[in-house]
Amino acid sequence: MTDIFSNKILCGKCSVEMQPINLHKNGFVLRAVKCSNCSNRIFHPKDEQEYNHFIDLKKKQYNVKMRFVGNSYAVSIPKEIVNFMKEQEKLMDDMVRLCFEDFGRISLRFGSAPDLSLVNSKFNKDHN
Ligand SMILES: [Zn+2]
Repeated sequence: MTDIFSNKILCGKCSVEMQPINLHKNGFVLRAVKCSNCSNRIFHPKDEQEYNHFIDLKKKQYNVKMRFVGNSYAVSIPKEIVNFMKEQEKLMDDMVRLCFEDFGRISLRFGSAPDLSLVNSKFNKDHN
């Protein structure tokens, strides 16, 4: 089956051929087409669906228990989050980067997920 975006898509209002663009939202890259006349945009249905799935997961809050393992504490990452990351191919291996982001807040970074600019600027400031 050919991808819908490999076809010419005309703007419903202007009948102008829409041009492919990539839109960045919350670390996500969504394929879209844009009308150069009226700026109307259409997201790729598959990307939009994945993005909506991501938003659903983002809204959830999980209560997970800390367990003492060896000399560290371990928490479980819900399977649906890891599975979603794997589907997005953002999780290439089992290594995640953890940092004490704020008081009362720890962040985990998976695979090739982009660095948080805030963390980077703080890091650079401290190491220059
Ligand atoms: Zn248009």
